[in-house]
Amino acid sequence: MKILVINAGSSSLKFQLLDMADNESVLAKGICEKIGFENGFVKFQNYKGYEKQFLVHLKNHDEAFSFMKNLFLDKKYGVIKRLGEIAAVGHRVVQGGEEFNKPTLIDKHLINVVKKLIPIAPLHNPANLYMILACQSCFGEKFPQVAVFDTAFHSTLPPKAYIYPLPYEFYKKYGVRKYGYHGISHYYVSNECAKLLNKDIKDTKIITCHLGNGASISATKGGKSVDTTMGFTPADGIIMGTRSGSLDPGIITFVCEKNNISMHEFSRIVNKNSGLLGVSGVSNDAREILKEASLGNKRAILAQDIFCYQVMKNIASYIAVLGGCDAIVFTGGIGENRVEYRNNICAPLSFMGINIDKSLNKLTVDGKKAEISAKDSSVKIFVIPTDEEIVIARETLAILKK
Ligand code: ADP
Repeated sequence: MKILVINAGSSSLKFQLLDMADNESVLAKGICEKIGFENGFVKFQNYKGYEKQFLVHLKNHDEAFSFMKNLFLDKKYGVIKRLGEIAAVGHRVVQGGEEFNKPTLIDKHLINVVKKLIPIAPLHNPANLYMILACQSCFGEKFPQVAVFDTAFHSTLPPKAYIYPLPYEFYKKYGVRKYGYHGISHYYVSNECAKLLNKDIKDTKIITCHLGNGASISATKGGKSVDTTMGFTPADGIIMGTRSGSLDPGIITFVCEKNNISMHEFSRIVNKNSGLLGVSGVSNDAREILKEASLGNKRAILAQDIFCYQVMKNIASYIAVLGGCDAIVFTGGIGENRVEYRNNICAPLSFMGINIDKSLNKLTVDGKKAEISAKDSSVKIFVIPTDEEIVIARETLAILKK
């Protein structure tokens, strides 16, 4: 049974076609980048080892969808003969609000709710909707499509973790609360971690650090999320590539008045011009920042220091939230690859007996899954590459079987 997984961002479209009947094998995968820009490109690879990058100006998500579809059917590097071979589509949908706390078959009602939630996830939900509608017009309205929500995993947060200390009516009237994001990834790596611990997930306390361009940390108890750093929007929590993370609310009015800018402009700055980019003045990309830091660029060094400091601080606080911890997991582009970040995050935690094995840490890059804690560490430390697509495909298949 072949399942297409779609993960659409504001200007990107990640896709994977999996054959669930053949050991969940990936038939083809790729990404359309810079949709809407002249310098757009598509990376594609198939299970036969074919890999290609196409430079192509895709005007919108519809064009990106058609491009992907034609690649699947292409005589030379295609992987299916007819679109009818695809049994269902699973979508990553970023914001599902309080209503959708599990993967759900897409219908008119779900589409309306995802539409209503656009003000909370203005970059992601519209792209998710375009793709759902593009699939409807390609496969027909009755064709099974499943939404797997990034927020759903955090629906188990207790009120003391998700209510902001604002007038309560903001929550009641407008749904202003912590939702949390990256849920599919936190779910996947916490479950993989339980397997590595050789424990039932119900008996685990795990802290998962998804550190990519977007970054968030979650505390999971018995496989359920009990707290997470991202909040009402994905801008909350720790410093990210271009997002600031949590701020003193007093800064908002102060900066808007000083610079004579609107709240809207402030929000753009907080999402696009802040974080590692804002502090370093170099880039949002940890690789570029490292290059500059090694040349002695003080702001690049500071950006790295802030990142590691904030991750460490949140891990420490989540150990208290969980009342102990079996394992810390690193994932995402930075979590999976940045040896020195992992070192610097864990070093201050050694007073709790948390110790990284420096040589194991060094060896664990480029998609490797491994334990990197020292033998005497009180808490195990793992690097586990995330795989949101497999979660989406499995959930889609489960709903299809129902
Ligand atoms: P996104 O959140 O957009 O999915 P990623 O998870 O790909 O982002 O993470 C992007 C970040 O990870 C960037 O800061 C990048 O520098 C870093 N990164 C990704 N791959 C590597 C690598 N092989 N070596 C070092 N850093 C990497």
